[in-house]
Amino acid sequence: MTAVLQLDDLRVPVEIGGSSRKARLTIEADGSLRLRAAEDVATEELQQFLASRREWVYRKLAEKEALQHEPITKELVDGEGFLYLGRNHRLKIDDMDGAVRLERGRLVLPRHLVATGEASLIAWYQRCGEAWLRPRSGAWAERLRVAAGPIEVADLGHKWGSATAGRRVRIHWATLQLSPSLVDYVLAHELAHLSEPHHGPAFWQLLARVMPDYEERKQELARRGGRLWFGGTS
Ligand SMILES: [Zn+2]
Repeated sequence: MTAVLQLDDLRVPVEIGGSSRKARLTIEADGSLRLRAAEDVATEELQQFLASRREWVYRKLAEKEALQHEPITKELVDGEGFLYLGRNHRLKIDDMDGAVRLERGRLVLPRHLVATGEASLIAWYQRCGEAWLRPRSGAWAERLRVAAGPIEVADLGHKWGSATAGRRVRIHWATLQLSPSLVDYVLAHELAHLSEPHHGPAFWQLLARVMPDYEERKQELARRGGRLWFGGTS
């Protein structure tokens, strides 16, 4: 039996021990993985078990990542940085009327909106995000051969996206801070759920067909996801 298995880029040392046939996968405090299994369990079986835990592993790693960093809060002052589609935009408090907007690379927050600044900025992510996502959703849906309903940007708590019965796909507004390639991953992932609701092999095959490098994007999402702004000002 191999002493070290591999889950994507992650090394998984296998500890032989115990009499339980059920393998046990743990994530150590430093984020490393460890698999415990009885001696007579075949490597293929362990590899399959590992693959079945993929989602769980990435979710746990993302949570760990988020915990290691203080939640990011923003100050609503001139010069504060806000990410949009992977680019950093400095905030500019402006005396002019109107709505939150991007202007010559600066994110403009009209002074009369500062009191409700957080909500105004989130509403801006939603508005711009929806406009940006709409044509892309159509394009990815076509490639995936799914009929997509309306796309909506909302606060989804700890989820990047969701796809529901009414073919409605929703994307967390915080996702829009990521680079287009990672937003595309979240979008294509949710659209693929319209055809394959569960994370079984058919789901990943479908995604791989339209996005051969989805695995790398997924890992990058796990790495970066915890360092985004999810609301909160100081
Ligand atoms: Zn999913």
